[in-house]
Amino acid sequence: MIDLPRHNANFCAEHLLQLCRRQVDKAIHDHDMFAPDDRLLVAVSGGKDSLALWDILVEAGYRADGLYVGLGIGDYSDASGDHVRAFATERGLHLVEVDLREQYGYDIPTASRATRRVPCSACGMSKRHLFDKAAIDGGYDAVVTGHNLDDEAAVLLGNVLRWDVDHLARQAPVLPARAGFPRKAKPLVRLTERETAAWCLIRGIDYLVEECPIAAGNRHLHHKSVLNAIEEESPSSKSAFYLEFVDKMAPLLAGRSAADAGELTTCERCGAPTTSEVCAFCRLVATSAAHDPVPVELVLGGRGRR
Ligand code: SF4
Repeated sequence: MIDLPRHNANFCAEHLLQLCRRQVDKAIHDHDMFAPDDRLLVAVSGGKDSLALWDILVEAGYRADGLYVGLGIGDYSDASGDHVRAFATERGLHLVEVDLREQYGYDIPTASRATRRVPCSACGMSKRHLFDKAAIDGGYDAVVTGHNLDDEAAVLLGNVLRWDVDHLARQAPVLPARAGFPRKAKPLVRLTERETAAWCLIRGIDYLVEECPIAAGNRHLHHKSVLNAIEEESPSSKSAFYLEFVDKMAPLLAGRSAADAGELTTCERCGAPTTSEVCAFCRLVATSAAHDPVPVELVLGGRGRR
């Protein structure tokens, strides 16, 4: 049995699986994320959320391939790639792979040091670009990511603390396709990370438990612990915080982000949409690939800046 205070109930294995299926189905339909015959590209990291998502979508009959980006974060990336490949092979699923070092000449520790960004900033920019590119190149209808309720509530708290209207306006469970960008959807927004971990446990999914060793500079981790402390005292406040934002506030902010308003041109190097001659990803590649490789140990603890 698993105790879920936010639902004020204990769940057996069978009912926990039903809860997960129902919540994902509700997210997909409430937000019109994608159609039953759409081709989906699921960004998978080897962790519980992305593998649970891929499993839930395939079980529900969606045509879902996986996308794994090798980030070059030492042993952590080696292990994450192994988990993703094993998951795909055991189930006969198609996996698209991109390796930063092999295909672009850099890795995340090196990009962090070369660009003087915290690792998650260089990593996030790289993944966003490569997810978009893989989806467009492969003709997929949507990129699907494993962001869960805890992730989205933590991001929302960070955006609210700064009243970052631009990011608030883009913090929707689904973003429509627009010139050069694929549709992006987050079907796990109604499930907590405890629930996705339980899904994996019950379904026998061998996911990577180890956390990214260079995540320490990630502000979302602090926001998550703040929200967990509130949730402890007041069960279901986390889901109310995020889901009520989606229902009541997000519609008021629709179309108000800079990306909605901005004029986009085409990157002269890679052809991706951008607001400048060369897109931010191509600038990051140029700077990072020219830098001597930096071992992951040198950026441990999130010390990406020199
Ligand atoms: S924690 Fe940061 S650096 Fe590590 S994989 Fe996630 S975004 Fe990348």
